[in-house]
Amino acid sequence: MDEHLADDLADLPALLEAVRQYAEDVLAGVDSRPVVNGARPEPAPVPVPERGAGLRAALDEFTLRWAPGFSGSAGPRYLGFVVGGTTPAALAGDWLTSTFDQNVHSARDSAATALEHETVDWLRQLFGLHPDHVGAFVSGATMSNLVGLAIAREWLGERLGVSVAHAGVGALGAATVLSGEPHSSVYKALSVLGMGRDSMRLVPKLPGREAVDVDRLAAALDALGRPAIVVANAGTVNTVDFDDIAAIAALKDRFDFWLHVDGAFGAFAALSPEHAHLVNGIADADSVCVDLHKWLNVPYDSAVQFTRRRDLQVAVFENAAVYLGLPTSVPDFVHLTPETSRRLRALPAWFTLTAYGRDGHREIVERDVAAARRLGELLAGLPNVRLLAPVRLNVVCFAVDGFTPDQVADAVTAGGETFLTPTLLDGMPALRAAFSNWRTTSADVDRVYRAIANAVAGTCTGAP
Ligand SMILES: *Cc1c(COP(=O)(O)O)cnc(C)c1O
Repeated sequence: MDEHLADDLADLPALLEAVRQYAEDVLAGVDSRPVVNGARPEPAPVPVPERGAGLRAALDEFTLRWAPGFSGSAGPRYLGFVVGGTTPAALAGDWLTSTFDQNVHSARDSAATALEHETVDWLRQLFGLHPDHVGAFVSGATMSNLVGLAIAREWLGERLGVSVAHAGVGALGAATVLSGEPHSSVYKALSVLGMGRDSMRLVPKLPGREAVDVDRLAAALDALGRPAIVVANAGTVNTVDFDDIAAIAALKDRFDFWLHVDGAFGAFAALSPEHAHLVNGIADADSVCVDLHKWLNVPYDSAVQFTRRRDLQVAVFENAAVYLGLPTSVPDFVHLTPETSRRLRALPAWFTLTAYGRDGHREIVERDVAAARRLGELLAGLPNVRLLAPVRLNVVCFAVDGFTPDQVADAVTAGGETFLTPTLLDGMPALRAAFSNWRTTSADVDRVYRAIANAVAGTCTGAP
């Protein structure tokens, strides 16, 4: 055994304690460190270490060279994108995922597959899906959308009497995907799946909204006259608008289409009695995407994909090798997602749901929604700030008159208190502040508000 490897093995308890202590220090500092640190070291062309230095030296090197440039995205005031965080139980689950290092490709050698099934079914219940919905963990919502649309593609083939999995996407001819405000990852998925980004046909939205006009969708399906894929959006990234999923699902009585719902973070509305109506009808979807590394507050590399047509899913993702095990009536996960070997992504979700339950996660969702509402009210009181949409759930979308979103975002970032991202809302430059972290309190909202108010005031005096 390599000398450093042997030393680390001998010293494992003390080394794990050192790493635990370091993690404790990092988490204790998450509230006081700059949310985004400008000090990012240029990656120097360092040759690959030939001899190595052992874990303790590696930890020192990381602490010195890399950690200072890492963002505070795990903390309560990082409001860019929709990043979530990591609950204590999710962190423990993630550590133990690596500790046990299970390969959840088959049920042959481990209970890990059963744990993933249990966790997926808890999530199905949490999001109000149908008892027929079955699911699998994937690495993120982009992958979840991709898997859902791959099953949809196979369904289109079934309607035409061809198997896309065998004959290829050419056998399908042109596919049509209809949506009002699809997430960018849907285009990526369509590109990867060979249906092409141009297969997306945008349907007009309701006036002043990011939700699709269901009458126009019906007209588009009618005009098309052949089977299609509809992507309904449960929570758009700019204004967290929701399509009327129940009304879209009702169109199935008149038209032949596959209904895929992208509920990456919007599906969490189901946890809050006040907002659950936003996802009415989601149980009727053919496939559903929900991100977990966003609002469930498990670490990155976690989303779930649900479908009602496991047979088509196996047709697409079957990995037929006798040594791996052929698909049975309860197919192993190796036959359900793009990967073959798979990390036990379910374990952090299992831990956080076991530790805090539906109630605990509802409280996180409701606290974040209250934070967004309060920030929206405070910002609306500033003379030059305009809210561009009502705060429907967890995002405040706004503009500052006279200044570009980049100017405002840069000024805010420089203050180190919070991080916001610029966006385009229907072509109009805007800013968004997205709440999804389990630690965020109303005191954080006040700090965020002061940071934005100061930045806007500073921008005002420094600008023409
Ligand atoms: C974040 C997001 C995605 C992509 O999720 P990743 O986890 O980054 O792959 C897809 N759809 C919506 C609506 C999202 O908010």
